[in-house]
Amino acid sequence: MKFREYEAKQIFRDAGIPVPNSELIEAAADAASALSRVAEKVVLKAQVDVGGRGKAGGILPATAETVDATAAELFGKQIKGLPVEKVLVEEALEITHEYYISITIDRAKKRPVILFSEEGGVEIETLAKERPEALRRVYVDPSFTVLPDFIVRNVIGTAPKEIGAIVKKLFEVFIAKDAILVEINPLVATPKGIIAADGKVILDDNALARQGITENRDLTEREKEAEKHGFSYVELDGEIGVIGNGAGLTMATLDIIAYYEGKAANFLDVGGGADAERVCHAVKLVASMPGVKVIVVNLLGGITRCDEVAKGIITAGVSQKIIVRIAGTNEEEGKRLLEENNYLMLPTMDEAIRAAVEVCR
Ligand code: GDP
Ligand code: MN
Repeated sequence: MKFREYEAKQIFRDAGIPVPNSELIEAAADAASALSRVAEKVVLKAQVDVGGRGKAGGILPATAETVDATAAELFGKQIKGLPVEKVLVEEALEITHEYYISITIDRAKKRPVILFSEEGGVEIETLAKERPEALRRVYVDPSFTVLPDFIVRNVIGTAPKEIGAIVKKLFEVFIAKDAILVEINPLVATPKGIIAADGKVILDDNALARQGITENRDLTEREKEAEKHGFSYVELDGEIGVIGNGAGLTMATLDIIAYYEGKAANFLDVGGGADAERVCHAVKLVASMPGVKVIVVNLLGGITRCDEVAKGIITAGVSQKIIVRIAGTNEEEGKRLLEENNYLMLPTMDEAIRAAVEVCR
């Protein structure tokens, strides 16, 4: 789950990382009074979940004279398609130099990696591509919860010592928050010292409960519903809904759809031992995706009973055509129920998927 800039900066502030004075507002009418408490010169920063807000017009400078009009302009805008609902009124900084610092997990090396550059503010992907030598990578032993000084020195090199203290605190945030990314881009030098001018914190979704977060607000309503039922669910952009049991069988279903030049709308693995109720929830969930024209239910009955699957499909009663391939325990009874209710049941997954692709032609 991603935190917005203002939330990331509060986390940094709590950890002792210097951040600019600021106040969050939710309406243009509150901008002037916020400015009066923050600074004479401010930047208004749209709190939208996209990178490169600066270039996209989401960060505007303002003073007491211009703040009302500037705030009205910003709240009226869409930044890369997203409406501006929250704005951070932040003291403008006198920037003399920009650095880049982030900590993430290197999955291949199975350990945290600290990225540091004396050339911050730019897009880091561009820097990594064009001038890789300008981006330092320092790996951290995964057992460390505090950064030893020798690592801090390797990270900052000849950059100001103050940055070392910030790197150390940033690592504490990374560990304490179960983060998969913490980033300051840019970390800026100003006459008042080194300050985090921007901030990003992304939590590991598997650690949300440990972090006391009950709901992942980044999920769509359908993804929340899937999570509630324990389905493995990924939305794609095709028109053939897919329900399978077991990740392998479900992936194979997607592969065969692609083989016949169809387009899958999703991946949904109902898991083992799916009863009528779970199947019913799965069918309704997939059917609720806009653009789904047909649904393939491809299940192997082991612990899962085919008659239960049939009952679930019938109870869901969705408007789209459903093509079923089920095999295994109580197969005959499942087939009888489905055919009695005019559902198409085909004996192999190849036939079922070909029929589904045909529906979309
Ligand atoms: P981003 O574009 O979404 O990454 O937002 P940033 O907060 O990083 O701002 C973009 C750029 O605006 C920074 O890289 C700075 O170079 C520039 N900038 C100029 N003045 C200011 C200021 O007073 N505060 C901040 N935060 N950035 C400023
Ligand atoms: Mn930035």
